[in-house]
Amino acid sequence: MGALNRVLSQMLPYVPRAIVGRVSARYIAGEKLQEALDTVASLNATGTSATVDILGEFVRALPEASAAREEYVGLVQALADRALDSQVSVKLTQLGLKIDRGVCLEHMRAIAAQAQRLGNLVAIDMEDSSCTDATLEIYEALRHDNRHVGAVLQACLRRSRADLERLLPLEPNVRVCKGIYVEPVEIAYQKPERIRQSFLDLVEMLLTRTSFVGIATHDEILVDASSELLRKHRTAPERYEFQMLLGVRHELRSRLLAQGHPVRVYVPYGRHWYAYSMRRLKENPAIAGHVFRNLFERV
Ligand SMILES: Cc1cc2nc3c(=O)[nH]c(=O)nc-3n(C[C@H](O)[C@H](O)[C@H](O)COP(=O)(O)OP(=O)(O)OC[C@H]3O[C@@H](n4cnc5c(N)ncnc54)[C@H](O)[C@@H]3O)c2cc1C
Repeated sequence: MGALNRVLSQMLPYVPRAIVGRVSARYIAGEKLQEALDTVASLNATGTSATVDILGEFVRALPEASAAREEYVGLVQALADRALDSQVSVKLTQLGLKIDRGVCLEHMRAIAAQAQRLGNLVAIDMEDSSCTDATLEIYEALRHDNRHVGAVLQACLRRSRADLERLLPLEPNVRVCKGIYVEPVEIAYQKPERIRQSFLDLVEMLLTRTSFVGIATHDEILVDASSELLRKHRTAPERYEFQMLLGVRHELRSRLLAQGHPVRVYVPYGRHWYAYSMRRLKENPAIAGHVFRNLFERV
């Protein structure tokens, strides 16, 4: 299956944009802020919270980074104006991480200050391994005087356990995910079983310390094993949530809600949907497989 998915991912650039758009539509709220707010409102109506992500990453010029900061500050305000239950998620390369780390930190400070003022939280997505050190440093710098920021750790990275040890004194809010980027064997586990083990180790470390954990997965094995850990540690619902992507494994999400677990859905939107979809699809051959399966189901 892995080889087939790799072949499929190489074919993606030849899939017409309109088809990529159709297949991606269920994963993306739309191009406009209004569409994202409406999606969040309908999730909230089912008892699900959200985190909104404005699509975009790896900006090449600082004015683009400033524009992204303003968009995020406006997004946090818009969520408050409509009294929606939604955080926001940011990629640091969208705020200029690769151009000027100091400028990126100042942009993040402004967004985090807005989140603090309005009682919200901004999660810093974790990007590929070239960004890990800088991302964690920025998280630490902010978290010291503003608790309205969250971090992400990728279970596939061998370093994540040590990174979590370092973050724990900050009583962090951490999303644990497998990691979407293809990383070399020297720094990343490759076997699904090993990645799952690492995921559960990170979750358990967070459950046994003062922290908040976002369990971000659609993998039923991990959902069940994490539920077991929650039972074992008698974790209060204020200390964790399951997190899923918009449009993915709806039935699993409904099951978790019915069992009384807090669930948050990641809602991406924005004009950069095509670049985002293509990058995600090419980076992770397994997801290319999902897309083609979807495409054929529709046809
Ligand atoms: C809320 C949230 C935030 C995330 N943030 C980050 C981040 O900051 N950095 C990062 O590197 N990664 C992030 N990820 C992605 C994550 O690292 C994984 O790549 C992704 O969730 C797939 O892993 P999985 O645990 O769902 O397991 P998998 O084994 O990949 O998936 C389990 C099942 O879920 C379904 N599925 C999973 N993904 C999709 C999809 N895209 N489309 C359709 N079906 C799918 C399939 O049925 C699959 O069999 C995030 C994921 C979530 C849910």
